[in-house]
Amino acid sequence: MKAREPIENSQAGNDAHILRAQESKNGGRGNVRRQHRTIKGVALATAVVAGLLPMRPAAQGAGRGQGPKIARIDPIRGNLYWITEGTGGPGASNLAVLVTDHGVVLVDTKNPGWGPETRRLIGTVTDRPVTTIINTHTHRDHTGSNTEFPAGTEFVVHENTRANLSKEICDRLANCGFLSGAKASYLPRKTFQDRMTIGSGQDRVELFNFGPAHTSGDTIVLFPAARTAHFADLFARKALPNIMTTDGGSILGHLHTLDRALATLKNVDTVITGHGTSLLAWQDFEEFVRMNHEFVTAAQAGMKAGKRADDVAADITALLAQHYPGYTIAPAKATENVALVYEEIYHSGHYVH
Ligand SMILES: [Zn+2]
Ligand SMILES: [Zn+2]
Repeated sequence: MKAREPIENSQAGNDAHILRAQESKNGGRGNVRRQHRTIKGVALATAVVAGLLPMRPAAQGAGRGQGPKIARIDPIRGNLYWITEGTGGPGASNLAVLVTDHGVVLVDTKNPGWGPETRRLIGTVTDRPVTTIINTHTHRDHTGSNTEFPAGTEFVVHENTRANLSKEICDRLANCGFLSGAKASYLPRKTFQDRMTIGSGQDRVELFNFGPAHTSGDTIVLFPAARTAHFADLFARKALPNIMTTDGGSILGHLHTLDRALATLKNVDTVITGHGTSLLAWQDFEEFVRMNHEFVTAAQAGMKAGKRADDVAADITALLAQHYPGYTIAPAKATENVALVYEEIYHSGHYVH
């Protein structure tokens, strides 16, 4: 597992998701070399699956869960705060903290090992305990520290994220298998399908899911009183999206989710991204939606014209880099996502209109 670290860290401006997506997509070049480098990791994973080794938090977070935990908590508006590492580095996910009359509602928990530091940061703005944790999706950098909070904490997730967390076997990033045995009480009991409201007045939180996108169970968290929305990895940063098909994600579904969010969420000024280094504005989200439309439209046009996905990706990379300064348009991600558009349109039998 350690062998992966250098590859992940070399993906500047992107996060851990990319590596896995590349591994699953990249059947050819570089595959043999990677196999050699991960033999140890595979053997370890197999031993864990077989129940030969305990999945200790330290082992789970090897490499990333260790080392100094440096993050900060900043106010957004009213009783809403956010926690960010401010680095945009691999796995550096952003959290939302709502201090309510009944306790703290926390959105996401970062990688394993971050529980104590997250509680310490929250303790600098309130004496109230964390009573509710919303996980935006299954990935380890968003659920990794769930079990480092008290056992009585209420966990809220989309029903498909509960299913993803309940799997016995999954990819390392998807973070399943750690909520069994003594930790079974941490398996989220409160789930929703399309929409859920928690609390009222200043403490009201609205959860939305518009279908498969980054994964099969993404949650957009809206804080109406603070006019703020947390999009997590649906809008991870100003970059092409990571679509995790092994966790039920869909690139056309992602575009649909963005459209629905744009039409449904009202009176939002501030946007929290999954991994960005600063808060963004609603206009940034609108720009992100435009960028994604342009991407899918161009990919589809290339498909209609009978062009190879690789050639179309190169054209799109150049086009978007020009149209969206400030965005990271990684050629490898463009290639991967164009291939996803081709695949999904081919399977559905219909172009996107
Ligand atoms: Zn993710
Ligand atoms: Zn993430």
